[in-house]
Amino acid sequence: MGALPERAVAMLAAAHRQPGLSRADASRLLGIGSGGATEVVGRLVAERLLAEGAPAPAGGRGRPTRQLTAHPEGPVVLAAAISHASWRVDAVELGGVSIGTLTGQHGAAPAPVVLGALRDAVGRLRARLGDRVLGLGVSAPGVVLDGRYLDAVGLGWTDVDLAVLDPEGPLVVADNDATLAAVAEQRRGAAAGARSSLHLLVDAGLGGALVDGGRLVGGARGTAGEFGHLPLGDPAVRCPCGAHGCWGTAVDGGALARLLGEPAPGHPAGYARQVVARAAAGDGSARAAVATTAAALGRGIAGLVNALDPEVVTLGGGAADLLAAAPDDLAGACHDGLMRIRRLDPPPVVPAGLGDAGPLVGAAEQVWDRWLERLSR
Ligand SMILES: [Zn+2]
Repeated sequence: MGALPERAVAMLAAAHRQPGLSRADASRLLGIGSGGATEVVGRLVAERLLAEGAPAPAGGRGRPTRQLTAHPEGPVVLAAAISHASWRVDAVELGGVSIGTLTGQHGAAPAPVVLGALRDAVGRLRARLGDRVLGLGVSAPGVVLDGRYLDAVGLGWTDVDLAVLDPEGPLVVADNDATLAAVAEQRRGAAAGARSSLHLLVDAGLGGALVDGGRLVGGARGTAGEFGHLPLGDPAVRCPCGAHGCWGTAVDGGALARLLGEPAPGHPAGYARQVVARAAAGDGSARAAVATTAAALGRGIAGLVNALDPEVVTLGGGAADLLAAAPDDLAGACHDGLMRIRRLDPPPVVPAGLGDAGPLVGAAEQVWDRWLERLSR
């Protein structure tokens, strides 16, 4: 493929961001007129990057329009997501549609076992798709240093090199699951189109990220967004990270167990779901614990809104459960913590739109981003 003109890359990016975009919409969006659009689309079809659907009647008046779609022989990215009990890898075409999925359960097995199974799955998709594959993006439930080395406390994995997952390489991106879910929410979820959005995920602890101007705020080593370790919790409680009083320890399953006088749960996320269900079924002490925890979440959100000024806050995992179970406690604590100027027009705090799919979608989006950036250079 030769170098593409700037407006061809812009059309490719537009077709990726807005599935179902018509050639006519794209020509308006890019301001290039219908003749220019025809020429650009012709080039992208010839390069096997885009295809055009069958003509469909335009709503109301006007000529039939044709939707821009991924080319059936076009590029795909591989996106893998490791969670605490399972893994999944997808082949994703332009526009974000998955055209192949492989999954497995791992029950928190040692890293070499899980990575071996995942590497085989990546190899199978590569064998099927050949040189259409642009590269691999990986989501993992832990801190990923330098886009490659994973520390996952919840799995007992330390300094695991994720590059082994794709011997045919390259490993384009690897990042924390909450961070990648933040990207996904801004692209295709509840924060779609927001200029600046904050995503928070409660699983075992709390993570998240700020996406600003469409780009992830990553930090010097790519590990920004460890909001769960802001010291907004009880200073008497020690966090697995080594610090005391971390916010994450005040909003997860461990927090609920302490409030209820029950033993520390082995699986905080599953335990938290149980307590929320007990509260919904009318258990008064569970309801009080959920309300206290939701308020602790809301107070921290206020601090982050004061500091970061997001347009919208999206909540995933246990954070979304607390929002659903105790919306008034969460909103009240958040309101009380907001600066006056933020109270005038506070950002909506909403459940994530993509749910558990967020990390995988975000991993795919990050690979597409790098590829589109390279094309436009
Ligand atoms: Zn901590």
